[in-house]
Amino acid sequence: MIRVIAFDLDDTLWAVKPVIINAEKRLNDWLKQEIPQLNYDVSSMRELRHELLEEDPNLGNRITEFRRRLIERAMLLSQVDQATELSHQAMDVFLIARNEVEFFEGAIETISMLANQFILGALSNGNADIRRLGLDGYFSFAFSAEEVGAPKPANDLFRRALAHTRTKPGQMIYVGDNPVLDIDAAIRAGLHTVWVQHPGQENTGETRADEEINDIRQLPEAINRMSARFNADHIGE
Ligand SMILES: [Mg+2]
Repeated sequence: MIRVIAFDLDDTLWAVKPVIINAEKRLNDWLKQEIPQLNYDVSSMRELRHELLEEDPNLGNRITEFRRRLIERAMLLSQVDQATELSHQAMDVFLIARNEVEFFEGAIETISMLANQFILGALSNGNADIRRLGLDGYFSFAFSAEEVGAPKPANDLFRRALAHTRTKPGQMIYVGDNPVLDIDAAIRAGLHTVWVQHPGQENTGETRADEEINDIRQLPEAINRMSARFNADHIGE
């Protein structure tokens, strides 16, 4: 019996690339406007990633804090006063734009329909925020890799969702676009899976999802097929 549907966010419910390009542009514009003495822009400050990571290897698992620290370091190297405070302001600019996404067609309708029947939630390696996205009315949980300590394919996010919903792995479906980070990882954690395959995308993983769809609007039907199979498997137990 399926109780919980958990979703990957980026590239599962919207295309992430244009969102990041736009968020970095908005951040760049803000930096140029507010801190003209800054000697870096978003792309040149990437050169500082390596040294920051060497100082604090944990930043690799904390993408929001990593980006903030990068901005802060660029400011410090440019002799900007109040670098910490300003780096937080800069991150707010980025994160607001990071949550201005264009959902795939039918995504919200599909989520809203499934919310009547299942507990829904989000498990993401990224820094989208379900409240800013307007998904908090449908989702009863959302955990990020940064909160739980390790990104997928580690099983920390799945374990957190199972504990939070008091659900057994066999009662949860994970829906994601990445064959390795989403599907292989969720299957290892004992979950059922639906792969949202993009046009031309190859299965680079080691496993096969229970169901494959190429449009998020096909998800309710895929879940129905899975439920029917599970129920048939358990008759007589
Ligand atoms: Mg994804």
